Amino acid sequence: MLWKTTDYTGWGRVHRAAGDLARPERAAELARLIEDSPGPAFGMRRSYNDSALNDTGRAIDMTRMTKIRAFDPETGVVEVEAGLQIGDLLRLFAPRGWIPAAMPGTGFATIGGAIAHDVHGKNHHVLGSFGQHVLSVTLLQPGGRQVVASPSRNKALFRATIGGIGQTGVIVSARLQLLRTPGPAMRVQESRIDSFDEFIARLDASSQTYTVGWIDGTARGAGLGRGILEEAELTDAAVQPARGGLPVPVDLPSFALSPPTVKLFNAAYWRKVPGRGRNSVKPIARHLFPLDKLHNWNRLYGKRGFHQFQCVVPPASVGVLREILEKIAASGLASPLSVLKRMGDGRAGMLSFPMAGYTLAIDFPARQQAETLIAELEAMTLEAGGRLYLGKDALAPGEMIKAMYPEWEAWRAEADKADPEGQLITDMVRRLALRSPR
Ligand SMILES: Cc1cc2nc3c(=O)[nH]c(=O)nc-3n(C[C@H](O)[C@H](O)[C@H](O)COP(=O)(O)OP(=O)(O)OC[C@H]3O[C@@H](n4cnc5c(N)ncnc54)[C@H](O)[C@@H]3O)c2cc1C
Repeated sequence: MLWKTTDYTGWGRVHRAAGDLARPERAAELARLIEDSPGPAFGMRRSYNDSALNDTGRAIDMTRMTKIRAFDPETGVVEVEAGLQIGDLLRLFAPRGWIPAAMPGTGFATIGGAIAHDVHGKNHHVLGSFGQHVLSVTLLQPGGRQVVASPSRNKALFRATIGGIGQTGVIVSARLQLLRTPGPAMRVQESRIDSFDEFIARLDASSQTYTVGWIDGTARGAGLGRGILEEAELTDAAVQPARGGLPVPVDLPSFALSPPTVKLFNAAYWRKVPGRGRNSVKPIARHLFPLDKLHNWNRLYGKRGFHQFQCVVPPASVGVLREILEKIAASGLASPLSVLKRMGDGRAGMLSFPMAGYTLAIDFPARQQAETLIAELEAMTLEAGGRLYLGKDALAPGEMIKAMYPEWEAWRAEADKADPEGQLITDMVRRLALRSPR
């Protein structure tokens, strides 16, 4: 196997790493690698932070392991290699009447990455997290041991693997239960929302399967929390397939996302939906992965990169969420990429992010002021009984993360058992001291 010395980053481009990467294509090659020189496995590195980095060490890039090993068209059970992208799974199976049951906001995430962060989608409040639709995973652990884990077999290992940030072994493949779809499209209803209270009321009242809100993180006063609510259902309506995307050719200069530009952009974006709302039919991928049209959109933030703050708070703490939003709006630092969503309590792993409540995700260009603000928002999240997302956060101290994840110690015991010498440890796991010292 060829090792290639590579400089690479997380999606936010704040954390960087240099090290040797191998890109196996066949299961036998992967098995040899894990036996001889184990390292953490990475997918498409769509995690914003250092979750998929191993600076100065080796790592396994899984993106060539993309085979579909089995599919039952009657039950919708599919077995796939972990490097397959969710968007490809969707494109391949939607025409046959099946789609992944939970999909994050990008189709570029791999199955391995979706399992390792137990990702959530716009239907989380109805169908739960990605891991809840995983029937089993096949892992290769350092030393070359192959183990299968499922909700009924090696149960603790399964719960430590779903959302388990790659620390229980390299996920080689997974059996997934797909969801039936009447067609390859979605009927989407967009409504303009005038305030935070209206947003929360509308999210609570929505009976649609896929709901998500874009929120104007710069609006203050009476307009605080204004935005656009998108509610959608799968449909058999005819639609043109989604076309390929465009690249962002260069890193943008820092003024491109300056506060006045963002304020103007947000106001115009909010008004684009008429007061009476509007309806459309879109390919599933176009609705669920809106940013995938613009390849490398992370370059819009310039060379210094950006942070995403994503928290979830329980319903009783909705007042704190409002205070968080007030602080963000007052800072004038938010970017246009801000999302508010209702979450159900579905989660499948010990370190899974979701909890019943509301999740807010907002991007900030990486600057000292933004990092100070995010530290305050993180403390407010902890106080509110909420938690931060391990696929996004790059700033919270380890003690705060541990306090937010009550099953952390049980997870650590499983990870230490699976990888006693710590050969799967990544930069994020080191930074947060999530594994036992060795
Ligand atoms: C535009 C955008 C929108 C997003 N929207 C959402 C969203 O709506 N909901 C949500 O939950 N997340 C969302 N995310 C985050 C993203 O879905 C997760 O970070 C996901 O893990 C990325 O998958 P990946 O293949 O890039 O994994 P990577 O970022 O490469 O890796 C993530 C973690 O998984 C581990 N891993 C990856 N493959 C394997 C494997 N084969 N075996 C063992 N461990 C492995 C890595 O070690 C690492 O810890 C979004 C990200 C972007 C860029």
